[in-house]
Order: sequence, then C-alpha cells, then structure tokens
Amino acid sequence: MDTINWSDLSFGYIKTDYNVRSYFKNGQWSKPVAETSEYLDIHMAATCLHYGQEAFEGMKAFRGKDGKIRVFRMRNNAERLQSSCRGILMQEAPIELFEEMVMMAIKKNERFVPPYESGASLYIRPLLIGTSAQVGVSPANEYTFIIFVTPVGPYFKEGFKPTPMVILREYDRAAPQGTGTFKVGGNYAASLTAGDKAKKLGYSAVLYLDAREKKYIDECGPANFFGIKDNTYITPKSESILPSITNKSLMQLAEDIGLKVERRQVPVEELSTFEEAGACGTAAVISPILRIDDLSENKTYQYCKDGKAGPISEKLYNKLRSIQYGDEADTHGWVTIVE
Ligand SMILES: *Cc1c(COP(=O)(O)O)cnc(C)c1O
Repeated sequence: MDTINWSDLSFGYIKTDYNVRSYFKNGQWSKPVAETSEYLDIHMAATCLHYGQEAFEGMKAFRGKDGKIRVFRMRNNAERLQSSCRGILMQEAPIELFEEMVMMAIKKNERFVPPYESGASLYIRPLLIGTSAQVGVSPANEYTFIIFVTPVGPYFKEGFKPTPMVILREYDRAAPQGTGTFKVGGNYAASLTAGDKAKKLGYSAVLYLDAREKKYIDECGPANFFGIKDNTYITPKSESILPSITNKSLMQLAEDIGLKVERRQVPVEELSTFEEAGACGTAAVISPILRIDDLSENKTYQYCKDGKAGPISEKLYNKLRSIQYGDEADTHGWVTIVE
C-alpha cells in the first residue's frame, strides 16, 4: 500500500483490500465472502437500478490509544438497515450476518484503520440492493448485501468549525408519510438539487422544513438538527426524518451531563431562541451551525458569536468522541471491540 497521510485524508473513497458480500437467493443468505474486486456484476434490469431498491448504512471504527479497534453502535445500524429494508420491501439482512460482515470487513482491512493520533477513522458502508431482473414494478427476489470500508480523515481539520446553513422553501427532501425515516438512496437523489444550490450559494447544507406545512424543522440533508437553550437539548420529532444514531447518543449524553432533553416539533420561529444549534451525524458527530438563512422569508438566525462553537455543543462533541476512541468509559455499552 502506498503510505497514507492519515491526517490529510478527506471524506472520500480510498480503495482498501477487501469488501465483504452475502447474496440472498432461493430464500436464504449465503455465507459471507471477502472479495477484492470493487465492482458488482448485476443484471441490467435489477430493481435497485430501476425502482430504487437500495438502502445503506454509515458507521465508523476507531483505533484507541491502546491500539484496540472499536466499532460504534453496530447493532443500532444493523437494526436500522432492517427497518430501511422493510420500508422499501427488501429482504432484511439478519443482525448476526450484519455484525459478522462488519467484523470481517474491518479485520480484513485492519491496516487501513488509522492510528489514534491522526483523529481519522475507518468509515464502514453497508449497502443492500435488489438484484434480480424485474421489468414490472415489484420487489426483487434476489438481493446483494455488501460492506466496504474506507479510511476517512478528521471532519474538522482546523478545529471544530461552525458553518452557515440555509432554508430553501422551494424544495422538500421527503414526504410526510413517505420514505424519510429510511436510509435509502431515493431520499438522497431527491436532495441533490437543493444541496447543490446551497453549496453554490456558500452554505454547507440545507435545513429542511416539514413538507406538509413548512412550519417545523425537519433535518439538515444527511444529518439531524438540534438546538440548545435554557440548559435543554431540543431536537425535532417528525415523521419524515431519519432516526440518527448520533442524535440518539447525544440525547443520552446531554442527559448524562445534566441537560434536559426534548424531542418534539420545533417551529421555525424557535430558531431565534436557541443559544446554540448544530447538525449531527456519523461523519462529523456535530457540525455546529454558524447561521441559518431563511432565504425566501428574508430571515437570518445567528449563533456562534465570535465564530466559535457553543460550549455545550463542544462538550457533547468531545464526550462522544472520547467514548468512540476509548478515552472515556463506555458506560452505555455502545462500543464493540474488534478482537
Ligand atoms: C445517515 C443519516 C443521518 C445521520 O444518522 P447517523 O446514524 O447519526 O449517522 C441523518 N439524516 C439522514 C437523512 C441520514 O441519511
């Protein structure tokens, strides 16, 4: 392997040695196999290509000071993938198969797990797709479940940095009773135009409102939203957002450090009352929000005076990272050590 400059890595794809695959055929999942090819050979009429039968996961493994590799909340990701599969009528991968394949993918690519000091980690991407040929609209009867990994750099290279986000009322990501609660590619396709527009206007992400009434905060593209005020961690409850495992973890940690936690509808106007706001997800843990511009309404909500993240966001961020890297005790049983 060419030497990797761990601290220069971005959130991109780097080829590793193996990916792990299992195939569902004739009513059962095959024993997982490690493959070196980065390519899939699938039928041109596969349902994943035509009818969006595709779900994925995103999780990370971290190398600790003790040299051990820790995977964060693997079981939750396995369960969420099952929920996504049910959501778009795909065959669910059993939890044990998911866990076995994650472990295999890490061990087979151990040399790509970045060292502790780099602040980098190993990103794990499970992907489940419908592969049998179907021209009429109906679910496949054959599926491929594949897990690949790729080392990714620390999300914040110049420190924990707040960025501006934007509300674009002319776009929706997911319908109220649609597929917003599932981690499926279709939701991402639906968000590309708005995301591109936001980037071109200088924003890091779109903050979506509920599609029905445009009254409440939903989430930030690929990350959940939270606000902090009066010693309370507040995060939207909605029928069109993805249940983020990072958010779930932050809610627990917020409680652990003595904050109140509220999961409820968050009206847009409430944005003006938050002391801190952030987006949360596996990639960054917390991405602090500098400012939210509600463009068509001509409104701006400012956070981080002096350009720095708020103290509570920073505390939660450090606490979660410490657990992931094994610097702090894993009191909630979130971490699986790769043996
Ligand atoms: C993956 C994802 C998130 C973040 O979930 P985590 O489990 O915290 O990584 C948030 N929103 C959407 C739409 C997602 O796809």
